[in-house]
Amino acid sequence: KVNAEIIAVGSELLLGQITNTNATFIAAQLAEIGVDVYYQTVVGDNAERLEAAIRTAEGRADLLIFTGGLGPTKDDLTKETIASHIEKKLVTNEDAMRSIEQFFIRTKRKMTENNKKQALVIEGSKVFPNDHGMAPGMLAKSGNHYYMLLPGPPHELEPMFIHYASPAIQEELETIEKIESRVLRFFGIGESQLETEIRHILDSQTNPTVAPLAKEGEVTLRITAKHQSAETANEMIDQVEKEIMQIAGSYFYGYNDMTLMEALLEKLSKKQLTLACAESLTAGKFAAEMASIQGVSTMLKGGVVVYSNEAKMKLAKVKKETLDKYGAVSSQCAKELAENIRSIMDADIGISFTGVAGPDSLEGHPPGTVWIGIAIKGKETATYLLELPGSRNNVRTRSVKYGCWHLLK
Ligand code: ATP
Ligand code: MG
Repeated sequence: KVNAEIIAVGSELLLGQITNTNATFIAAQLAEIGVDVYYQTVVGDNAERLEAAIRTAEGRADLLIFTGGLGPTKDDLTKETIASHIEKKLVTNEDAMRSIEQFFIRTKRKMTENNKKQALVIEGSKVFPNDHGMAPGMLAKSGNHYYMLLPGPPHELEPMFIHYASPAIQEELETIEKIESRVLRFFGIGESQLETEIRHILDSQTNPTVAPLAKEGEVTLRITAKHQSAETANEMIDQVEKEIMQIAGSYFYGYNDMTLMEALLEKLSKKQLTLACAESLTAGKFAAEMASIQGVSTMLKGGVVVYSNEAKMKLAKVKKETLDKYGAVSSQCAKELAENIRSIMDADIGISFTGVAGPDSLEGHPPGTVWIGIAIKGKETATYLLELPGSRNNVRTRSVKYGCWHLLK
């Protein structure tokens, strides 16, 4: 987004002899056309300090709007200072010259050599006629910056801004490249594996660009496209997205800021399914995360924290023989937990988590060994073994994510 800095030039302003109404006027006008103003500057009629103000503004604004100092006298040096700063010549503008001549004819005054100076404009700039005075305004472009020069007297500046300057800014805004981006989110695939599989896409792109990022077991790809039309930029993104999806679509779960849990809830809500959970190592983390999203009450029926074997038996009716024979960290235990909690709660889906968060081993299983059970009404119960790296809480966080992921599939 473009932002502007208003630079009012005039020692009278610094001396407190006049009020900077030009800045107020321009700021209000810019707000209306959606251009942000982060800074306003006032500088005296001094070339060196004006130059310094220009440099400062260039470091923090795209569009520099100057008012004042376009007149014929010696202290009017805005135009000259900016022209030399951006290394452009001043050239006579014929339209401006004619209107200055006519201004003298109309007002029956004698034109001086000095007044010809007012017809000088920065070469290559867009010139704004002055319908109420002599000095034309202008908009010059150099590098990544725009420089707009407007006369000081408010009765000249205000109509010029409305009729010429504001439309010129809006026209330029349309030609500026829009940057659009979209994040694709993947789970269940490592960053290096995904990167390897889409290597040819990553390598061949300059616009759009594709940038991978990995975090907490998730991999995201940010596709960024630049174009004058945001619509076209988005179409360019669509194209790259399609290519990526053909390769890695089965690991995709959502766009931009979407979390796995949000994706899951979207699915449950669409299918009007209810869920209950029995959690050992995650100890309620799955249910808590689900409940952190609003509107969950129609989907989450409830759940139990079955941290000890005693709780597994008492709260989720896991058979003692199952625990004796297979242990708590087992497919059999995960299966019973999921099935039992589903039927106890009369939910469509039952999910269970049982495993070793660490740091110590349990029942001879290393930390990170986790079983997830998923029981769905009318379907055979599925169990999934995870062997997760990372610290205790990392294992718990990732277990929840895998739970969401398996439910999504
Ligand atoms: P001129 O051709 O009249 O000299 P200019 O473009 O050179 O115009 P200045 O000489 O800087 O502008 O200012 C001319 C007059 O315009 C000032 O005396 C003041 O009355 C008014 N003016 C200048 N700057 C501002 C401002 N920022 N806000 C309000 N009025 C201003
Ligand atoms: Mg002046």
